[in-house]
Amino acid sequence: MQKLALVGLGASGLFALKELAGADVEVHVFDVGPTYEKRYACPIDQGKLEVCPPKACSYCAPGQSAGSWNDFKVILSASPVIGGRLYDLIGEQELQKRLDIVRSTILTHAPCEIPVVKPNAEDLEWIKKRATMAGMVYHYQELLHCGSDNAPAINTSILEEIKAKGPNIIFHWDSKVLSVSRRSEHFALTFDRYRKPGEEQEDIFDYCIISVGRGGAAWLTQQEFYKALDIYPGQVDIGIRVETSSYFTEEVDKRFYEPKLYYRSKHSNDVVRNFCSNPKGFVTPENHREYVLVNGHSKMYEKSENNNFAVLVSKTFTRPFKDPQMYSQTIAKIVNMLAGGGPLVQRLGDLRAGRRTKSLTNNLIKPTLEAECGDISLAYPHRILEGIVEYLDALDKICPGVAGESTLLYAPECKSYPDSISVNKNMETNVPNLFIVGDSSSWTRGVGQAATSGILAGEGVRQKLKTAVPSKIVAVAK
Ligand SMILES: Cc1cc2nc3c(=O)[nH]c(=O)nc-3n(C[C@H](O)[C@H](O)[C@H](O)COP(=O)(O)OP(=O)(O)OC[C@H]3O[C@@H](n4cnc5c(N)ncnc54)[C@H](O)[C@@H]3O)c2cc1C
Repeated sequence: MQKLALVGLGASGLFALKELAGADVEVHVFDVGPTYEKRYACPIDQGKLEVCPPKACSYCAPGQSAGSWNDFKVILSASPVIGGRLYDLIGEQELQKRLDIVRSTILTHAPCEIPVVKPNAEDLEWIKKRATMAGMVYHYQELLHCGSDNAPAINTSILEEIKAKGPNIIFHWDSKVLSVSRRSEHFALTFDRYRKPGEEQEDIFDYCIISVGRGGAAWLTQQEFYKALDIYPGQVDIGIRVETSSYFTEEVDKRFYEPKLYYRSKHSNDVVRNFCSNPKGFVTPENHREYVLVNGHSKMYEKSENNNFAVLVSKTFTRPFKDPQMYSQTIAKIVNMLAGGGPLVQRLGDLRAGRRTKSLTNNLIKPTLEAECGDISLAYPHRILEGIVEYLDALDKICPGVAGESTLLYAPECKSYPDSISVNKNMETNVPNLFIVGDSSSWTRGVGQAATSGILAGEGVRQKLKTAVPSKIVAVAK
C-alpha cells in the first residue's frame, strides 16, 4: 500500500483526513499537539491563570489549532474577499459545495443546536443603505458560531467518526515533524516527540499533505523542497482590537453577528476592514512566545457587556522588501516592549488627543483583558492608525457610539500570512504529490476555507490513487 504523511491536524488537516478515511493508502498523521481529548481551553478563559505564562501554552502556539478551538466561528459563504482566496482558485460553486460539507459536518457533530447566522432581505437592505451612507462596502456572509465551549466536543466527535471509518490511519500525537525533503519521487520525513524529544525517526512516503497552519509557516520556509515551489510574498494585516459597549453595536449584532464592512482610507487609499467580532465576548492574549498579540473570542453561555472586534489594515509589499512577517512581528515586539512584555490598551479619545492613557478607572467601557495602559502611536505607523480611526468614524454612522472617547483600542493585533504558494485546484504544488493546505498555503484565512482546502487535497489524493496520473498545475497564486 502507498503511504501518505499528513503533517498537522488542525482545521485543514482534519478535513483532509476525513476525506482519506478508508482510502487505499496508509495515512500517517503527525501533530505536535496531544490527542484531541487532552486539548484544553485557554487557562485564562477558564479562570485558572490571570496572565499568559512566559512561554506560550499549547492554546495559541503550535500544539493546538487555534480557530477550531477558540471561538470557532465558521464562515460558510463562498466570498471573493472573506476567509481566504479559494474563490479565485476553484470558483464560487465549487467552493460553496465544499463549505456546505464543512457546515453539515460541524452541525452533525455539535452537542447542541447551533444556529446558522444568515441575514434576511430586510436586514440586507438595512445594512446596505447604512454602509453606503457611511462610505463602507458590506460583504455578504453566512456563518456558524460554535463558541469556544462547544469546540472540544465537535472536534473530538469528528475525529472519532474518522477513526471508525479509517483503519488505514496511524496517529503520531505529540510528534513534531522536523523536516520534509524530497528523495527521488518520494518524501523523507524526520520526526521526534515534541515534549520530550530524543527519539528522532525517519520514514518515507509517496504523498505528503502539509497543513501546519500559520504557526508552521516559518518552519515551512526551512524545508528542502521550499526553494522548488512557485511562491510570491504574502500579505500582512496590522490592526487594533477594538472593545466597546455591546449597546452601541446591538442593532448590527442581532441582525448579522459579524457584518463584513470594508472601507478605503481617504488618506492612504489602504483597504481597512473589520474582522472577528465577538458580541458580548472577551479580549484575550495570543501568546507566540517571542511576542504577545491580542485576539478576541466569545462563548455560547458566558457573556460580557462588551463587543470586541479587530480593525485591520492590509498591506502587501513590493521589491526589494521580502519579509512582511518580520515587519508585523517587529511592530508587535515594539508594542510589547513599551507595555513591559504584553499588550497595550489606549482609549480612543487619548489616541486622538495624542496622549498616553494612564488609567481606565471610571472609563465608560470596562476592559475584559487586563493590559498595560499606554500610547499605541509610539509603535504603530501613522498611516495605519489614521486608517483605523477613519474606519471607526465611518462605523460610528452605523453603530453610534463606537467612535466615542471611551472606546478601548488594544495592540498589537497583527496577522501575517505565509508566502502564497502556487497550487492546482486540489492544492497540489508544482512538486508532484506534495499538497500544501490551509493557512500555511496562504490560500486560506479561517476555519471554513482551511477545512475546504483540506477536502480538496483529500479529493486530489483519492483521484491520484485511482488514476495514478500526475495532475497539471493550473492555477498560479497572484
Ligand atoms: C486565537 C485565534 C482565534 C481564531 N479564531 C478563529 C475563528 O473563530 N474562526 C476562524 O475561521 N478562524 C479563526 N482563527 C484562524 C484559524 O485558526 C485558522 O485560519 C485555521 O485554524 C487554519 O487552519 P490550518 O489547518 O491551516 O492550521 P491550524 O488549524 O493552525 O493547524 C495546524 C496544525 O499543525 C500542527 N503543526 C504545526 N507545525 C507542526 C509540525 N512541524 N509538526 C507537526 N505538527 C505541526 C499544529 O499543532 C496544528 O494542530 C483564529 C486564529 C487564532 C490564532
